[in-house]
Amino acid sequence: MNYDLKGLSITNQNDIQYREMCYRCRRPSVTCLCSVINSFVSPISFAILQHPAEAQNPIATARMAKLSIENSYLFVDQDFSQNSLVNELLKNDDHSHYMLFPSPTALSLDSCFEEITTNPNKRPLFWVLDAKWKDVPKMIRLSSNIQKIPLVKFAPLVSSQFIIRKQPNSHCLSTIESIHLVIDSYCKKFNVSFQKHQGLLNVFNHLVQQQIEFAKTHQNNRHQQNKKIRHEKKQKTD
Ligand SMILES: [Zn+2]
Repeated sequence: MNYDLKGLSITNQNDIQYREMCYRCRRPSVTCLCSVINSFVSPISFAILQHPAEAQNPIATARMAKLSIENSYLFVDQDFSQNSLVNELLKNDDHSHYMLFPSPTALSLDSCFEEITTNPNKRPLFWVLDAKWKDVPKMIRLSSNIQKIPLVKFAPLVSSQFIIRKQPNSHCLSTIESIHLVIDSYCKKFNVSFQKHQGLLNVFNHLVQQQIEFAKTHQNNRHQQNKKIRHEKKQKTD
């Protein structure tokens, strides 16, 4: 039996180990990132729609973005059509809504920002899908309420630094990198002297570094284990 239930790891019936968790950043306490998160109010609001599979992923970045940006929302589901909070937000006329999505017909980020200036009474709200690419079409098909949000795409100048997790294309950034890029582009476009969003990359870099360390330790342990097995086999044959 080998279950792994968030924080409670049962390796066999007589061996129950509790792993302390931080329920704010949803990471094991030893790798809690709360101390490096400096929250701020962003010039753009964000609503992240997260697939349930991503919510279980320890290296997902959406929660870090949500905890960093005070005017952001995080909803977890596959079908958002009946989600009353999502529907309420969509009906909110104080916002101009855009969905970050790399469709060929999507507006460029630059054109989107120009459009925003024509509606000075509306605050921009960007919807972001946080899911594996294979899960995105179904999420959109089920969530009829989000299908009419105007799409916006960007062409990042840099490739994702998310080396621990393969991105399908060079234009794909992690969720937190994408959000950082939108705020950064907005500030540059309108000469807004805002720097607090740089903290998003700081949190992200900590996460990447932790995963690199974890992979190294894991690889090293495996190497030691294989060496031990080889040694034991050799002793048996001698
Ligand atoms: Zn934490």
